[in-house]
Amino acid sequence: MVDTAEAEQLLRRGLRSRGRGGQGSEVTSGPAHTHTAMADGIHGYSELTNSSYFLTFKRFFNMTVVPIFLISFVPNLVILIWYTVMHCQGSYLKMAEMFQGRTTLAGLRDIWAMVNYPTTPIVAIFVGYCLYALVMMKVLPGKFVKGPLTPKGNVPVYKDNGFLHYLVTVAIFWGLVVALRPYGLSPSIIYDRFDEVLFLLNIFSLVFCALLYVKGRVAPSTSDSGSSGNIIFDYYWGMELYPRVLGFDVKVFTNCRFGLTVWALLVCVHAVKSYELHGFVDSMFVSCFLQLLYLTKFFWWEAGYMSTIDIMVDRAGFYICWGCLVFVPGFYTSASYYMVGHPVHLGPALTALFLVMGAASIYINYDADDQKQLVRATDGDCLIWGRKPEVIRAKYRLETGEEKSSILLASGWWGVSRHFHYIPEIMLSFFWCVPALGENVMPYSYAIWIVILLSHRSFRDDTKCANKYGAYWQEYCKKVPQKIVPYVY
Ligand code: NDP
Repeated sequence: MVDTAEAEQLLRRGLRSRGRGGQGSEVTSGPAHTHTAMADGIHGYSELTNSSYFLTFKRFFNMTVVPIFLISFVPNLVILIWYTVMHCQGSYLKMAEMFQGRTTLAGLRDIWAMVNYPTTPIVAIFVGYCLYALVMMKVLPGKFVKGPLTPKGNVPVYKDNGFLHYLVTVAIFWGLVVALRPYGLSPSIIYDRFDEVLFLLNIFSLVFCALLYVKGRVAPSTSDSGSSGNIIFDYYWGMELYPRVLGFDVKVFTNCRFGLTVWALLVCVHAVKSYELHGFVDSMFVSCFLQLLYLTKFFWWEAGYMSTIDIMVDRAGFYICWGCLVFVPGFYTSASYYMVGHPVHLGPALTALFLVMGAASIYINYDADDQKQLVRATDGDCLIWGRKPEVIRAKYRLETGEEKSSILLASGWWGVSRHFHYIPEIMLSFFWCVPALGENVMPYSYAIWIVILLSHRSFRDDTKCANKYGAYWQEYCKKVPQKIVPYVY
């Protein structure tokens, strides 16, 4: 723990450095930093406002070129997943043949030409589900919980009814499977027409993000909003940290009640389709079971999710909203989507091994998230691995200049490495991909993606925390030098 006198001295130094006109966002300038970087995330506006020629180019590249590239390119990714599964027997090599001897654009154009426009049943299911989820957000009971203090000093309040929403939704799904069967109706229509689903989700999310941009400009919900001065970047990154429309929190809807719930429902759809085609398949069972266990854990812990980067840092723009509305349903589900057409019989030994290893990884990931929450909820008055936790009582400043304090846990999983919980997160995803065994790389897409995402995220979070906590974060880094992998990295 940082000694109080030392902390006060560091705090005074931090104040002096701001007195000299700094933003207080340099790690070395003292602990009581302004909260600007937290407000703006890794794509912070403040770091992009330097007027040198190089930084002007960097600013143009980061705030215009990269967003335009991502907005126009990433919608293709989910279509490529669909094309690989439905037209290339799940082989990326076969998919790549579409691009041989021609431009990427020509290949993409021909793939898109195979995608069907959304038909009435798909549009009806989508609209029906969105309305259902919105109603459930309001009517299901739940305690009101406070989110983390924002850079502008606001404290968002959330209704903690995610777990109930998840259980009720999955139960209704299986109820409908049974009830509709005698009429020859099956949710496997969603698997059969997934191209229509992805087309619809892409169009919806592009329009939805445009509406969020307009709302952020003309009627922001809170003071945690603002423009970078670049319309493209504002569309991409978002204007508001937690916009609300008619009392509905937009990010709770897009991230939790749509993205992660639809992920669970699609996994159930894959299970139904696989059963219709092949009867019981143990590899599909393992993959679906682990994904659903992971999502059950997520919704059980949903209030804790409100203190993560997705909510505290990422504004409601294309980056996070397209990700949750399209990429999660279209890409995160890719392992079981692939397995529908590739039934593998694992046998009892491998089935048990993958289930146990996957469930253990889910537990460790949950436990790490829980330790962080517990130590803050009890102000450090708890036991972590049977001992008093080692904590750093860190000070920081809001954009308003108000000084605040928080706790950094430096023992338990958070003493092993600074983002140790990412290792079980990677392992658990591997265990729901590996039942597909070795015929193709495609079912491992999610596991590969999560390695990239979490490596990048560890940098984003370290940057955010270094800017927020300054010397206190350095103190933590000294105590816990490794970013993710103990003794290695
Ligand atoms: P984290 O749980 O790592 O939370 C990051 C925040 O926690 C920091 O910004 C800081 O916030 C606080 N913090 C950092 N270090 C400490 C510490 N030592 N003690 C106490 N608080 C600390 O956020 P993530 O969003 O990355 O992960 C949340 C969960 O979601 C994890 O289980 C992760 O594996 C999972 N995840 C899953 C993804 C997927 O796509 N499947 C993607 C990303 C994450 P503060 O400002 O409050 O101090």
